[in-house]
Amino acid sequence: MKCLNCENEKFEEKQLRFTPEIKGEEIEVVVPSYVCKHCQTPLMDGAQMNLLRRISADKYRKLHGLLTSEEIVKFRTMLGMSQAAFANYLKVGEASIKRWETYYVQDVVQNDHIRLKCDEAYAEFNALEVHWKCHAPDIFSGNRRFSWELFKQTVRYLIGFTKSPLFLNKALFYVDFRHFKLYGNSITGARYAHLEYGPCPDQYQSIIHRLLTDDILMSAGHHKLKSVQKADLNLFADSEKETLEYVANLTKADGGKKLLALSHEEQAYKKTEPFQLISYNFSKELKI
Ligand SMILES: [Zn+2]
Repeated sequence: MKCLNCENEKFEEKQLRFTPEIKGEEIEVVVPSYVCKHCQTPLMDGAQMNLLRRISADKYRKLHGLLTSEEIVKFRTMLGMSQAAFANYLKVGEASIKRWETYYVQDVVQNDHIRLKCDEAYAEFNALEVHWKCHAPDIFSGNRRFSWELFKQTVRYLIGFTKSPLFLNKALFYVDFRHFKLYGNSITGARYAHLEYGPCPDQYQSIIHRLLTDDILMSAGHHKLKSVQKADLNLFADSEKETLEYVANLTKADGGKKLLALSHEEQAYKKTEPFQLISYNFSKELKI
């Protein structure tokens, strides 16, 4: 190896700062490179060059919420696939896999495609979103389209009082049904089903899973959950806020034990069959 500047042949390895451009954006990274001992001009070998390209690509990916090369490799190995099999599975060329696992940044659509095909929780939630979008507001959603944002904030607020998913589900039911009873529409647009432990949001297991993986909720031990952040109550209308506070007050003393018992006495529960969706028309007879 000869220095391109002074033709000296002695080099040492140093950590250097580089600012390569990726998709029109300057990325700053610090990576190892040889430098000429005489004039300090950097000169990279093939391995250092590859490292620079991969680290820069991954930095860009992290900044833009895309899967890193390592995460893509992890998905492939989790599925027990070779690069060729993985390419076949994703219906892309094998060259794309080789590049994505190293220095070439996948675009947003490709990234979404990889997650849908490899990330179980992501795929599950996607199905749920499709489900919500396909159902127009009706009497089972409280005459309102489902709002994931309002549902999340409602969960954040109520979990502070109810602690466990069991009691949370009942508080959610009461919040939506009470608001419907007073104002003719639910708050979150959630559908509720008749389950063994009382009325529960439809698909609640997938929902709770998503709330945990999205860092909305976190475990607080012993089947208890807590909110990572405080609820943003500014997103709610006054009638909605009053309803939230009303139900929260009912759970303050015992975390929702009484509400749980009461929910089993509701016509909404007694007059529906197991696994059936509960009509908001039952809210007329609500006991709170
Ligand atoms: Zn030199």
